[in-house]
Amino acid sequence: MLGKSPAWQDVDGACSGYLVEDDATRLLVDCGSGVFSKLRGVCDYTDVDGVVITHMHPDHFFDLVPYACALTYGPRGHGGRRGGHDGAVSPQLLVPSGATSFLNTLTVVGGQPRLLDGAFAISEYDAALPARVGSLELRFQPVPHYVPANAVDVRCAAGGRFTFGADHGPTDALDEFAAGTDLLFLEATLPAPEPDGQRGHLTAGEAGEHAARCGARRLVLTHISDELDGDWALDEARRSFAGPVEVARAGAVYEI
Ligand SMILES: [Zn+2]
Ligand SMILES: [Zn+2]
Repeated sequence: MLGKSPAWQDVDGACSGYLVEDDATRLLVDCGSGVFSKLRGVCDYTDVDGVVITHMHPDHFFDLVPYACALTYGPRGHGGRRGGHDGAVSPQLLVPSGATSFLNTLTVVGGQPRLLDGAFAISEYDAALPARVGSLELRFQPVPHYVPANAVDVRCAAGGRFTFGADHGPTDALDEFAAGTDLLFLEATLPAPEPDGQRGHLTAGEAGEHAARCGARRLVLTHISDELDGDWALDEARRSFAGPVEVARAGAVYEI
């Protein structure tokens, strides 16, 4: 758990960022503001095999920029020459459909039009199809949010599963997608449901309801501010989810 903050960081916290590892592969799920610093605290950023972005909100992708700078200008970077300079291999970067032009616009505005493209091996994923990063198999599920967003399910070769809902309002789309997952991270952003308009986030109580419907083995409430009461959030989730549940804590490690 590199970062669990919502769109504004906790004190000393980072936005969305989860490092998933098995014996062969390191995958970073989301790379929001502050995540690159946290990543550096737990592993060598040149040893990450891939990054997958759930949706194009700043709290889920903004730290791709410093990450790309490190790969390009850092002493162990590859000079922006993608794919094997001095033995370095660019991490895969899997982004939602249409996000490549979005990222290019961002870096053009910043005066470095090739920054991300030179640092990462970028590809857009089709949410209807599985993808692979090393030994990890990824599946996606579109979820209702203010921009196109995708839950992601990561399965390692040994069979363990981690599922992250990304940002989303109430939906039954996760019921089957996340059914029986070993470890479910669901957002719990809101103290109360949005009073009107499109739903784009969950309360802790709603996260518990979703986890119960999925039959998740374990639930972690994430995308939750340190300005919310964690004990209250746990109580809310436990109203409907009988399994183990905890509030995300940056630096926590979960074994599957
Ligand atoms: Zn979002
Ligand atoms: Zn978010």
